[in-house]
Amino acid sequence: MSHNPVRPWRDIYRRKSRQIMVGNVPVGGDAPIAVQTMTNTLTTDVAATVAQVQAAAEAGADIVRVSVPDEASSKALKEIVRESPVPIVADIHFHYRRGIEAAEAGAACLRINPGNIGDEKRVKEVIKAARDHNCSIRIGVNAGSLEKHLLEKYGEPCPEAMVESGLEHIRILQDNDFHEFKISVKASDVFLSAAAYQGIAEATDAPIHLGITEAGGLVSGTIKSAIGLGNLLWMGIGDTIRVSLSADPVEEVKVGFEILKSLGLRHRGVNIISCPSCARQGFDVIKTVEALEHRLEHIKTPMSLSIIGCVVNGPGEALMTDVGFTGGGAGSGMVYLAGKASHKMSNDQMIDHIVEQVEKKAAELDSAAEAAE
Ligand code: SF4
Repeated sequence: MSHNPVRPWRDIYRRKSRQIMVGNVPVGGDAPIAVQTMTNTLTTDVAATVAQVQAAAEAGADIVRVSVPDEASSKALKEIVRESPVPIVADIHFHYRRGIEAAEAGAACLRINPGNIGDEKRVKEVIKAARDHNCSIRIGVNAGSLEKHLLEKYGEPCPEAMVESGLEHIRILQDNDFHEFKISVKASDVFLSAAAYQGIAEATDAPIHLGITEAGGLVSGTIKSAIGLGNLLWMGIGDTIRVSLSADPVEEVKVGFEILKSLGLRHRGVNIISCPSCARQGFDVIKTVEALEHRLEHIKTPMSLSIIGCVVNGPGEALMTDVGFTGGGAGSGMVYLAGKASHKMSNDQMIDHIVEQVEKKAAELDSAAEAAE
C-alpha cells in the first residue's frame, strides 16, 4: 500500500491483517484506514447524539462510537442507528445484557472485552447476539483497566501484560468460533502504547484499531496522537484510528485525517501548504489561511493549495500544488494553476478568488475521477 514508484522514500508497507466488516465499512486488509470518533453527549439524548454523529460523519468520520451504559441508552441506540449515516459502535463495559441489547438495536460493532463480562454462559450469549445481528466486536485492552491477575503477574501495566490480555480475549472469541473482531491496546503513555501495539501486531492477524487513550486537549492530545499513531502507521500498523481529545468529536476526525494525510495514507479535502509568514510577506498569510481553512471545509476532493507570503518559497511550492497564491508587491500576488504562474490578483479579492479556483479544480478532478471509473 502507498507504493510510490517515483519517491520510494515515501513507501509505507502496511501489515497484512484480515478484513472484517463494521456495518458497511471494511476494516483491515487493503481497506482504507478508517477514521473513528466517539460521541460525548448523553446517549439518551437522541437528538443531540444524532446531531453529533452527523457532524462527525460530515467531517469525514467513517465509524462513530456511542456509549451504552444503561438500558435506556440501549433503547436510544436503536433510534440513533436508524438516523446515523455511518456504522455505530456500541461501547459496553462489564454489562453483558447491554451487549446483547446493543446488537439487537442494530449496532455494527460492540466494543466489549469478553473476559470481563462474566461466566462462559454470558459470553456465549453476547457472541450469539453479535453473530445473529451481523455485529463485529472490538476487543479494547486499556492499560488503565488491566485484569488483576495480569497486574499481579507483571507488577504494573506493561506491553507484555497488555498483549497477554488481548490474546486472552481473542482466545475466548476464537474458542466460540467468532472471528469478526478487531483489537486495540491503548495507553495514555505513547511509549507503552507503541510497544503494546507492536507486540499485538506480531501476535495476531486481526485488524488493529489504533488510539492513544486520554491523550489530552486539542493541542497536547493532537501532538501526542500524531507521535504515537504516526509512528505506528509509518511502521504499517493500524487499520482504523481514533484520536482521543478532550474536544469536539469533529476535531478528533479532523486530526485523524491530518495524521493520515501527512503520511500519504488517505486523502480528503484541501491540503493547504502555507508558510509561517515573516516581514517579507506580501499579504497577511495567517489571516488568509484561517479564512481559507474555514471557507474550504466543504471540499472533499483530495487536492492541494499553497498559500505563500513571498517569492522566496512561493513559486517552488506552487510547482507541486493544484492551486497556489504567492504574495508579491503593490497589494497583489500571483495565482498558480497546476504548478504554473497563471495571472495576478489583488490581495483584497484573493480569498474569494482562491475559493472559486479551488471549487473549479475540485469539480474538474471529480469529473475526471468519474470518467475513469
Ligand atoms: S515564504 Fe516569504 S513570507 Fe513566507 S516565511 Fe518565507 S520568506 Fe517569509
